[in-house]
Amino acid sequence: MIIDIHGHYTTAPKALESWRNRQIAGINNPSEMPKASELRISDDELRDSIESNQLKLMRERGLDLTIFSPRASFMAHHIGDVQISRTWAAICNELCYRVSQLFPEHFVPAAMLPQSPCVDTATCIPELVKCVEQYGNVAINLNPDPSGGHWTSPPLSERYWYPIYEKMIEYDIPAMVHVSTSCNACFHTTGSHYLNADTTAFMQCLTSDLFRDFPTLRFVIPHGGGAVPYHWGRFRGLAQELKKPLLKDHLLNNIFFDTCVYHQPGIDLLTRVIPVDNILFASEMIGAVRGIDPETGHYFDDTKRYIEAAHVDAEERHKIYEGNARRVYPRLDALLKSKGQ
Ligand SMILES: [Zn+2]
Repeated sequence: MIIDIHGHYTTAPKALESWRNRQIAGINNPSEMPKASELRISDDELRDSIESNQLKLMRERGLDLTIFSPRASFMAHHIGDVQISRTWAAICNELCYRVSQLFPEHFVPAAMLPQSPCVDTATCIPELVKCVEQYGNVAINLNPDPSGGHWTSPPLSERYWYPIYEKMIEYDIPAMVHVSTSCNACFHTTGSHYLNADTTAFMQCLTSDLFRDFPTLRFVIPHGGGAVPYHWGRFRGLAQELKKPLLKDHLLNNIFFDTCVYHQPGIDLLTRVIPVDNILFASEMIGAVRGIDPETGHYFDDTKRYIEAAHVDAEERHKIYEGNARRVYPRLDALLKSKGQ
């Protein structure tokens, strides 16, 4: 089985974006604010948006199942207040849930949270509870920078984040650490803000003792871990200077990396530097990089090709494709087992 742990609903019907634009307009003009019930998207529209896009590519590439979350760049937690985020997150999570109900063999939902810059993270808990208990979400996306590129929130090691961590522990779900749109002109959203955030989250964990407080807390750092695998020696050296344990003991029981690295040398480096037990297959499609690589003739985000060509044996490849995902996402494992898979 091939599980893609990182897919976003980037092909949602246009009505979603139109509703969001009206919501944003309504922030300054409350009489314009749409009700959630004014967004109407039929099951047929959802089916069409998936079958001819995400599911078509999954079938062509031989991927069985995607952990599916709302479009990351659209989370935009910096827009409006917590109530705006709350309504928006509820709408987006409900759509991913409906997709998972329409295509139960192929999609399992992961939730975005109704975060808002510097607002108490306990405000995210009701949506998180609903998504796990009613929608069967197996993970969350946690935005370490709800300000959208200005980094106004405390580091991930601070108690500010603990209400979310406590709930993650209770439900035994991991968080993908995933920022959203950059509203800082210095940072391109997918080209720098995403990768900066991946690297930043890792370093925040490295300098702290977060996983001493939460030994079973699990973070998936997407986009191949940003700059982390490439600079593994720097991080090992910094940990040593800070008198931290070896990284394998300090962080690698809790931090995992996906394979959203869009060329063979990057995957070769990832699989050589990072233990295979910490690597989870993902493509983040249909997402950040949608074109065809002229050097190979294949889509950049057709990441299965790189894993097939990587220097890993069959057992290691199975871990990357399925085994690690089932271990890091126990609710996914339980769901698959309940279907005899
Ligand atoms: Zn993503």
